[in-house]
Amino acid sequence: MEINSIIIIIADSLRPDHLSCYDYERNTSPCIDILATESLVFRNAYSQSTWTRPVATSLLTGLYPGVHGVETPEDALSDNIVTLPNITNEFGFRSALFSTIEHVSHHVNLDKDFDDYFPLLWSEIGHKITACEVVEKFCSWLEKNKDFKIFAVLWFSDTHIPYNFPKDQVKFSKCSKEVSNIKLNHHRKKIESLNKSINNYDNSISYFDKNIGDIIEFLKDINRYSESLFFITSDHGEVFNDHGKFDFAPFLKHFFRNKYGILGHGGFPYEELIRIPLIMKLPEQQIVGNCNSLVECIDILTTISTLLGADLETQGISLLEVLNSDAKIHKRYILSESKMSKKHPKYYVLRNAQYKYFRCDKKNLNGNSIAKRFIYRLLPKDSLIFMTDINNEKDISSEKYIIDSMREKLDFIIQTNKELQDKLEIEKHNIIYSQEVKKRLKDLGYLE
Ligand SMILES: [Zn+2]
Repeated sequence: MEINSIIIIIADSLRPDHLSCYDYERNTSPCIDILATESLVFRNAYSQSTWTRPVATSLLTGLYPGVHGVETPEDALSDNIVTLPNITNEFGFRSALFSTIEHVSHHVNLDKDFDDYFPLLWSEIGHKITACEVVEKFCSWLEKNKDFKIFAVLWFSDTHIPYNFPKDQVKFSKCSKEVSNIKLNHHRKKIESLNKSINNYDNSISYFDKNIGDIIEFLKDINRYSESLFFITSDHGEVFNDHGKFDFAPFLKHFFRNKYGILGHGGFPYEELIRIPLIMKLPEQQIVGNCNSLVECIDILTTISTLLGADLETQGISLLEVLNSDAKIHKRYILSESKMSKKHPKYYVLRNAQYKYFRCDKKNLNGNSIAKRFIYRLLPKDSLIFMTDINNEKDISSEKYIIDSMREKLDFIIQTNKELQDKLEIEKHNIIYSQEVKKRLKDLGYLE
């Protein structure tokens, strides 16, 4: 398989069920839909966490957050971990990172190992960088490097709060189906605001999609499209009141704010936060169609490493391997982990084809106020969900035999990850943020 370009596109906070190629009723993504017809579309892809930084680190290292150790806003990538650009550089690719968000930048050491790095950050430039500006930078870099094989990571944040799109390109302004299904008339104001948020989100997806169309056109113009390995994915989803949290106990709703309810991401690993789109176009469009196997973000590194022929032990499996009928692959477990700060509980979701097991690890809560500790104690320690499909879930926490086996499996994975972390001699970084970065992260809702 001849590969001249490896391109990973990430739309921050993009949930698959808001893309038309993942059956959304609105036509948000006509350009991505066309790409999807020439690609493998993974319908059950999951992220390693519920917020940007741990997932970006997992994507670039192929390791679980419990191994690479970048889990809270205080953590940065260790210098001695092998990353994707290390692998592609070894095979003669010229590599570049185009990032619009501080969580995927030099501030957290995620630029390490790229030949070229474009920090298109608000805190550097002083305004929010649009998808169009990222595409311009990328195309001019491609022209300069036309004689090289290239590897590029493009991190777009138009679909991250506050959703970004040109105000003269509003495509969706009516009440969305999701909102019209909510029967809570006495919360009309909140419903109106939710409707506005969903419309803005969908408009930002439509704007992002148009820019993906421009990238594909450009790749075709310079004869790079056919031999490219092209991924479109996201780091996590977004919550839009999916769990009816308007009804949440008022004191808890106030405490958890948008992390637990109305809007946003981070915190508890709900389905709408950890399920991500994953579209992979192979060189020469060799295999196309839908794949329902469970796959996860760290599989992207393994896929690239396998296709290039690198001799590397990884935690994921190749996305091409999941297409074969090996029973072992179809019995796999995948893991998401989330810890929003040193003082928050750590959440785990361990999933296989049938079950989803949640754990809330409440160790190290001592830095919190008595009130916060009390509220965290109200959260259940663990629970088990049986799924027949994404939309049909049933709480079966009382099934002792099954929940015990999931507990055991998770304990085993946590222990294995800890051993791997020790073996890799991960060095902890202490980050000192400048005032501009601190302000930006606060605006995005990551620092208190
Ligand atoms: Zn993100």
